[in-house]
Amino acid sequence: MQFNPEKCRIPDEIGKPFIDEEEIWDYINKTQSTPERVRDIIQKSLDKNRLTLEETAVLVNTTDSTLVEEIKEGARELKRRIYGNRIVLFAPLYVGNYCINNCKYCGFRSSNKEQVRTTLTDEELVHNVEALEEDGQKRLILVYGESPKYSPEYIAHTVKLTYATKKNNGSIRRVNINAAPLDVEGFRTVKEAGIGTYQIFQETYHRGAYAKFHPANTRKGDYDWRLTSMDRAQQGGIDDNGLGILFGLYDWRFEVLAMIRHTNHLEACFNVGPHTISFPRIKDASGLDIDQEYMVDDDTFEKIIAIFRLAVPYTGMILTARETAEFRAKAIQYGISQIDGGTNLQIGDYKYHHEETEKNSDKVEDQNLHREQFKIGDDRTLGEIIDELLEDNYIPSFCTACYRLGRTGEHFMEFSVPGFIKRYCTPNAILTLSEYLVDYATPEVAAKGWKVIENNLENVDDKFREELLKRIARVKAGERDLYF
Ligand code: SAM
Ligand code: SF4
Repeated sequence: MQFNPEKCRIPDEIGKPFIDEEEIWDYINKTQSTPERVRDIIQKSLDKNRLTLEETAVLVNTTDSTLVEEIKEGARELKRRIYGNRIVLFAPLYVGNYCINNCKYCGFRSSNKEQVRTTLTDEELVHNVEALEEDGQKRLILVYGESPKYSPEYIAHTVKLTYATKKNNGSIRRVNINAAPLDVEGFRTVKEAGIGTYQIFQETYHRGAYAKFHPANTRKGDYDWRLTSMDRAQQGGIDDNGLGILFGLYDWRFEVLAMIRHTNHLEACFNVGPHTISFPRIKDASGLDIDQEYMVDDDTFEKIIAIFRLAVPYTGMILTARETAEFRAKAIQYGISQIDGGTNLQIGDYKYHHEETEKNSDKVEDQNLHREQFKIGDDRTLGEIIDELLEDNYIPSFCTACYRLGRTGEHFMEFSVPGFIKRYCTPNAILTLSEYLVDYATPEVAAKGWKVIENNLENVDDKFREELLKRIARVKAGERDLYF
């Protein structure tokens, strides 16, 4: 990826970081929201344009309930018009929870002596990946604390081992990672292992708040090292990046504009914005004790999600099982395009859980927060989530075609290339769903799934429909991993 210093404000290079707090507060304090402007801005986004910081600030400053509804309706319309009704599914797999940092909100923080520390052995990793494959997963995100144990070489090793693990018809076709910031060489090493997205959350873009939650004497206490992670990732060859804010640490209005600023920076420097944006909100964790001043309520959170859908219309948007099933169902309408399913944060527990549910067909025990990072709100199995998505006529998708065909920036293509979704995304979503229905679904879910596929054939490009039907027949006859 070409680095373009002319257009870039990299910290140290010209002495001014690309997050300028004064600039952001100016936008918040000086921008007015009027019905005309809000409507023009929604229309601009529906016409497939990225919003500026100033335009995003107008949406952020909108408090009138009718206009907020219009923002949410605009986001819903954009999602419907451009992306259709696919929802991409994945699962997180925690590899290890040793951590040298002491982030005050996190169950893994070093001062939390109650946390039971583990790193999966290779054998355990393989068994857990197999259990996930047996549930039907195809896309994983591997998650690590920050520790010398989790070097770039070690991370690369776990990524390769995950790809190499195959159980019956199962395979993991895309491995994303969420790991501490690396140097350029480190990023090159994990890139060579074949990672999909490198995801890292700034947590908060506000320096004062950042300092409050990340003690200065820790590695993560270095705000600039974290803020420039994606610049180093790009320089190390990773052009597929996931941004995130941990909502609840600081004023959400500041965070939203700062992340748009970060997006502008990546677009200007590397010609590519974030592949995904994640929306974690603080949840209970082992020994959690932080003040509630900036917690974000559900209504505001819905508005935030809708604003991002409109402001960065080309990016994938992720909402994890931190949130409840009810909230996720709503957020999917306003722009969320990826969710995790069958989530289990206890390290090494997928295998155990899989064996127990096979025996009992019941849910296994509650979460033990001393063995996990935080409390989740949606503990449904992958099968239950798929069942509910199908009920609402969504197409659950495990598609990994673009990444494997070298079509990086697929969300951007979905958004900007006319007909791309009808030619590639919908047929591929249908093919991966077909595999799931044949290999893993209960007879009831399979019946629902085939119906949804039938309903959605009209959303496939005419020229591709016949070939798609042939490929579905090939999947039914036992072939796997067919894609356009
Ligand atoms: N150690 C790596 C790092 O800090 O970048 C990996 C991060 S952690 C395993 C993944 C993310 O979980 C963090 O970046 C943070 O945003 C989020 N997180 C931590 N504690 C949380 C909590 N109590 N509730 C919700 N999310 C939390
Ligand atoms: Fe460690 Fe990451 Fe948790 Fe911070 S958020 S304590 S760095 S695992």
